[in-house]
Amino acid sequence: MADELHRLTAHEARKLLSNREVSSVELTQAVLDRIAAVDDRLGAYLTVSDELALAQAADADTSLSNGGGGLLTGVPVSVKDNMCTKGIRTTCGSRMLETFVPPYDGHVISRLRDAGAVLIGKTNMDEFAMGSSVEHSAFKPTHNPWALDRVPGGSSGGSAAAIAADEAIIALGSDTGGSIRQPASLCGVVGLKPTYGRVSRYGLVAFGSSLDQIGPITKDVRDCALMLNVISGHDERDATSVEMDVPDFTEALTGDIKGLRVGVVDEYLPDDLDAGVRGVAEAALAELESLGASIERGVSLPNTKYALACYYIIAPSEASANLARYDGVKYGYSYQDGDSMWANMDGTRQHGFGDEVKRRIMLGTYTLSTGYYDAYYLKALKVRTLIRQEFDEAFERFDVLFGLVSPTPAFRLGEKTDDPFEMYLSDVFTLPTNIAGIPGMSLPAGFVEQDGQLLPVGIQLLAKPFDEASILRTAYAYEQATSWHTERPPG
Ligand code: GLN
Repeated sequence: MADELHRLTAHEARKLLSNREVSSVELTQAVLDRIAAVDDRLGAYLTVSDELALAQAADADTSLSNGGGGLLTGVPVSVKDNMCTKGIRTTCGSRMLETFVPPYDGHVISRLRDAGAVLIGKTNMDEFAMGSSVEHSAFKPTHNPWALDRVPGGSSGGSAAAIAADEAIIALGSDTGGSIRQPASLCGVVGLKPTYGRVSRYGLVAFGSSLDQIGPITKDVRDCALMLNVISGHDERDATSVEMDVPDFTEALTGDIKGLRVGVVDEYLPDDLDAGVRGVAEAALAELESLGASIERGVSLPNTKYALACYYIIAPSEASANLARYDGVKYGYSYQDGDSMWANMDGTRQHGFGDEVKRRIMLGTYTLSTGYYDAYYLKALKVRTLIRQEFDEAFERFDVLFGLVSPTPAFRLGEKTDDPFEMYLSDVFTLPTNIAGIPGMSLPAGFVEQDGQLLPVGIQLLAKPFDEASILRTAYAYEQATSWHTERPPG
C-alpha cells in the first residue's frame, strides 16, 4: 500500500492516521514522491514546501500519538498561490510577486494549521486569478492530467490538476467567476464555491472583492464537506465574513434525496451544446431522478445572458482598484531604471504585469472613470440585482438548480490565448453564481471522448445563500450511486 498512499482521500487518510496504520511522515513523503515523479510534466506547483511539510508531518505524528488531532491532522494540503502563507513565497502567478514572502498567514491557512493539516505546496494559477486555463501564469502552464496537450481550466488549475493527479490529498482554490468549478470540471474532481461571506478572504490576494471566495477542491464529496468545516466561519478581519452558525457539513451526507426539488436551468444547457457533453448532463439527471429527486425541466433564468457583460464590468472595476497597490514601492517587483519616481512606477507595472492583467486594469479604469461610471459600472450593479432576484425567485421553488459547469471539456493549450473573448466564454455558466453570491459546486459526472482522449465533464449544482448543505446532500447521494469520482487519469 505504501506506494499508493498519495491516492487516498483526506477522510481515508485521516482514519488510517488515527489508527496509526500510517504516519503523517510516510503519507507526506508519498505525496512529495508523487510530485517529484509527475510534476515536471504537469506543472501543477509553483512552490513545493517539502521541508516545512515534513516538519509539520512530524508534529502531526506526535500529536496523533498523544491522542490529539484536528479534522485534518497529518493530511497533506495544497493551496492556490494567491493565499498568503507566512514564510512561503506567494506569487499569485505574477512576476509582480515573484519573490514576495508574506509575513503572515491568511485566515484559511491559520484554519488549516489549527486543523493540523500539512502544507505541501502552492499551486499554479492564472496571474492574479484572471483566466480560465492557467495559460496566464507568468511562470509556466499547467497541463491537464487527463490529456497533457490540454488545459486544466483556471484559474485554480494547479490545485485541480494536483488533486486529479494525486499530487495532494486535498486542496484549496479561489473562485471569482468560476475559478474553482471550471477547473474542477475539466480535471474531473469536486470543487465548491461557498456562499459569499462563508469563508474569510483575509490573506487572499484580492481580485474582485465582491466576488472572490475561497473553497475546497477535493477527490470526493465527503472531503469537500470536511474542508468546508475547516475553513468556514466568521473572522473579524474580513468585514464581509458573515457572523452566523456554521453547520457540520458532513451531516448533510445522508445519501437520501427523496423529494428534493431540482430545477434544470435552460440557460446552462443551451441547444447548441456538444452532444457528448449534453449526454453527461442527461444521464446525471436520470440518476438523480432514480434516486427520488423531483426534476423539473425548462426553468429559465433569462438574465443569464447579461451575466458575462455584467461580470466583465464589475470584476475589472474592482481589480483596477485592488491592483493599484502594486506600485513597486511597498513590496513586490520594483523597476529601478527610470529617471523619476513616476517612470519607475510605470516600469514596475509595465514589466511586472502580464497582458491579461493589464487588459483588466484598463477595462476597469475605463468603466470607473467620470462619465462612464453611470453608463457601465452603475448599470452593471443594477443588472447584478436583477440576477440575484431571479435566483431568489427560483429558490422559492427549488432546493437545487442544475446545469453544466462549462460548455466544453478541456480545450487545447494555445487554443484560446489569442482571443480573450473566447476565453471569457468558458465561464458563461459559472459567472452568475458569483454575481449573486450563491454557492455552487462542480461534481464529476462522466467523460466525453475527443480525438481519442477521454475528457472529464462536471455538472453544476447551485443552492440558495448559505445552503451549501443541500448541494452536498445532492452531490453525495449522486456520488454514492456512481463511480466517476474513483476514475483516475492514466499515469
Ligand atoms: N475566468 C474568469 C476570469 O478570468 C474567472 C476567474 C476567477 O474565478 N478567478 O475572470
